[in-house]
Amino acid sequence: MTTIDANLQAVHARIYAACFAAHRPVDTVRLVAVSKTWPADCVREAVLCGQRVFAESYVQESLDKIVRLADLDIEWHFIGPLQSNKTRAVAENFAWVHSLDRLKIAERLAAQRPAHLPPLQVCVQVNVSSEASKSGCALAEAPVLAHAIAKLPGLRLRGLMAIPEPTGDSGLQRRRFALLRQLLTQLNTEGLALDTLSMGMSHDLEAAILEGATMVRVGTAIFGARNARPVDNK
Ligand SMILES: *Cc1c(COP(=O)(O)O)cnc(C)c1O
Repeated sequence: MTTIDANLQAVHARIYAACFAAHRPVDTVRLVAVSKTWPADCVREAVLCGQRVFAESYVQESLDKIVRLADLDIEWHFIGPLQSNKTRAVAENFAWVHSLDRLKIAERLAAQRPAHLPPLQVCVQVNVSSEASKSGCALAEAPVLAHAIAKLPGLRLRGLMAIPEPTGDSGLQRRRFALLRQLLTQLNTEGLALDTLSMGMSHDLEAAILEGATMVRVGTAIFGARNARPVDNK
């Protein structure tokens, strides 16, 4: 058994245990493998171990990988910060975007999504850690943004995503994730039909699953520690 194979099995075991503790069916949580900084060969190996959903954070790096792995049936998710000059590449090459935090970017993705593809599945990224984090829209601004995005053609708003500040305090982890869960409930009572909570990473996936995560984004626990972030030069 390879390292990636063993790591994937260990992550599945953690997800299974967390679902058991949360009294949730294990098939309510999808594992998104975060392959940023790892070469295409590592993704290929993970696919051979049964993993089908992968996430990337840097546009140029991801396009190279998507081309090299075009022979495989991979569902690609974009989870990184997105600038306007890179929206077209994302609209054309990804199935999901988790990191929408501005209407302008959503409008560009909507306009650029090719008509022959299904709608781009999107989540609004919310800052649940206020001053301790910079990414994501403010909690108070999320409802207006979510309702606006839900109206755009070419996109299908599925839910919310958050990256709380790293902490080993599992109580704090759960309180941050609970904010996202409560916001999802609020938006659904306001008429949106959202089914996705993208939250939980290598160090806090258990807390996320206890608070209702439906997608956990796991990199390090599958592929190992990332050394350096590649230069995204295009
Ligand atoms: C890198 C990254 C992850 C994975 O983090 P790990 O700690 O390596 O599991 C998850 N989500 C986002 C948005 C990331 O950028």
